[in-house]
Amino acid sequence: MENIKTMDTHCHLQHNWFDEDRDSVIAEARKRMHFIIESGARPDWNRGAISLSEKHKGFIYATAGLHPMDAQKASASDFEKEIDFIRESKDKIIGVGEVGLDYHWEKDEKIRALQRERFSRFISLADEIKKPLVIHSWDGEVDAVDILSREASGTVVMHCFSGKKDELLKALDLGFYISFSTQILASKNHRRLAKFTPLERMLLETDAPYLGPNREKNMPWNTLLAAEKIAVVKEVEVCDVVKVALENAKKVFGI
Ligand SMILES: [Zn+2]
Repeated sequence: MENIKTMDTHCHLQHNWFDEDRDSVIAEARKRMHFIIESGARPDWNRGAISLSEKHKGFIYATAGLHPMDAQKASASDFEKEIDFIRESKDKIIGVGEVGLDYHWEKDEKIRALQRERFSRFISLADEIKKPLVIHSWDGEVDAVDILSREASGTVVMHCFSGKKDELLKALDLGFYISFSTQILASKNHRRLAKFTPLERMLLETDAPYLGPNREKNMPWNTLLAAEKIAVVKEVEVCDVVKVALENAKKVFGI
């Protein structure tokens, strides 16, 4: 089982939790994986993801965006600056993300409205630079899918999607990809969502260093553990889950 080479479509190796072992983690990942997609989420992480991708060309790829909690915090001019930075970096990134809505941490309706407004800006930016969108939608799945259904014209990836079955079906109906993480090991809801998601629409991710299988620091190759769980849920072989998820990732991100 351990010799199935996997990939991770969403992690954060630029996070300071990897400051001590980043090089050895990447060396190990090279043995066990086809590629890694580094997700930006804050201005410094966007730059960090791009520089990692330049240092590890053909193995690490970068996306750039602002996590909704960071997007809402930014001043109007800092927000515009980051939009410009992402636009100017379009040849160095393979996606816009993570961007979206976070109603889990933000309860204030006025600030949620600002999240939606800035989310829309990222949707039109992705459209303009022709990159797929990587969506964070914690507890805001209904609004996120609704906004995307009206505004997004390109490929959409729902990262760590944790919504209900109805929202999942709507997202699938719209042609979106659903990214499953190591969360599926501990979550009955994610296993249920996996049951309703065709393999052809699935991606694998860890969100490392977050979402460790036993709450420890997560590692990018743990996507294999998620694939093993999906294989059980869908009654297919692990190697087939990885194979199809790999093809999907290459197609979505143009790798
Ligand atoms: Zn993330």
